[in-house]
Amino acid sequence: MKQLSNRINSLPTSATLAMAAKARELKEQGKDIISLSLGEPDFNTPEFIKDAAIQAVNDNYNSYSPVNGYLDLRESICKKFKRDNNLSYNPNQIVVSTGAKQSIANVAQVLLNPGDEVLLPAPYWVSYSAISVLSEASFVEIPSSIDTDFKITPEQLEAAITPKSKLIFFNSPNNPSGTIYSEEEYRALAKVLEKHPNIYVVSDEIYEHINYGAGNFSFAAIESMYDRTITVNGVAKAFAMTGWRIGYIGAPEWIAKACNKLQGQVTSGANCIAQRATITALDAPVTKIGYMVDEFHKRRDIVLDLLGKIKGFKLNIPEGAFYVFPDISYFFGKTIKGNKIENASDFSMFLLEQANIATVTGEAFGAPDCIRMSYAASEEQLREAIDRIKKALA
Ligand code: GLU
Repeated sequence: MKQLSNRINSLPTSATLAMAAKARELKEQGKDIISLSLGEPDFNTPEFIKDAAIQAVNDNYNSYSPVNGYLDLRESICKKFKRDNNLSYNPNQIVVSTGAKQSIANVAQVLLNPGDEVLLPAPYWVSYSAISVLSEASFVEIPSSIDTDFKITPEQLEAAITPKSKLIFFNSPNNPSGTIYSEEEYRALAKVLEKHPNIYVVSDEIYEHINYGAGNFSFAAIESMYDRTITVNGVAKAFAMTGWRIGYIGAPEWIAKACNKLQGQVTSGANCIAQRATITALDAPVTKIGYMVDEFHKRRDIVLDLLGKIKGFKLNIPEGAFYVFPDISYFFGKTIKGNKIENASDFSMFLLEQANIATVTGEAFGAPDCIRMSYAASEEQLREAIDRIKKALA
């Protein structure tokens, strides 16, 4: 009998990757799909980083690296943390992994026990909940809405905490909402956490460089939080290196050590060529990737302008990342071209079937009134996509 484990049977499929796969499949069948589903820059990796990878191949970087990453890469990461985030880490506090997703999974595996609760300010990235459950913890959503710019309040945080709370995920700039927490807002949340010393914080800052002026404040820069915060980052989004799979953490040394031990049994060190190229990426001045950020900024404004003209799309102004997360609850209960829209999944499916536009339902992010649209696509595709949506809804 084909009997999979309970663990895998209870794991939901990643909604972002599932939608991307569906869009790919439909394209292969000849359908003219525009995919706004996956959060992935549409730029090529910058030449200077590619050159570094080629050099690494020619320099015969073909052996296993240390499990937690090459020492000189970990030193570069420490310099980056100091330069961009005013965070002091030493190389023993750094673990390099196969993408920030593995970094997060490592942290969950080494900190969570069955019965622990993970606090998820919603909307949250789809995999936080799944990774928590995989670590036999349960998760508690702390809801927000477009009316509060998708931010939670200190009062809400306080109310969600129980004796079982072990971990909280912060993600700013946020996937899917693009929201950025200010230093002041983070300090107010930290005040609550100060009263609960058993709670650890994952601060996922993978979108830090894709921000349109507000700047990024690192949670670990709050002195009282440094000893219990794990700062997660990587090169995928800022340097258009999604497929290179390099993520990393800066963490209290005992947590980094545990992640190192876990990784040593599961994957060993991350890809050595990609690690070498990451040194070049992180050592470069941040201005080198400014052209991509400027382009995302421009596209954000176009998308907000065009979507804002469609009745029923309620928008906030995302300050970072490359997603818009409109509240489309206006359409719930309506029938459009014979399709009854009961929820965000129905709406997302309607857009796929009637407009050939792939989006991701907000239900996957703990925000059932919304859908996520990535604007990491060309301006031409974005204009065409929104035009099709408008026509489908007309
Ligand atoms: N983080 C990206 C997204 O949310 C990539 C896909 C994934 O890993 O979920 O679309």
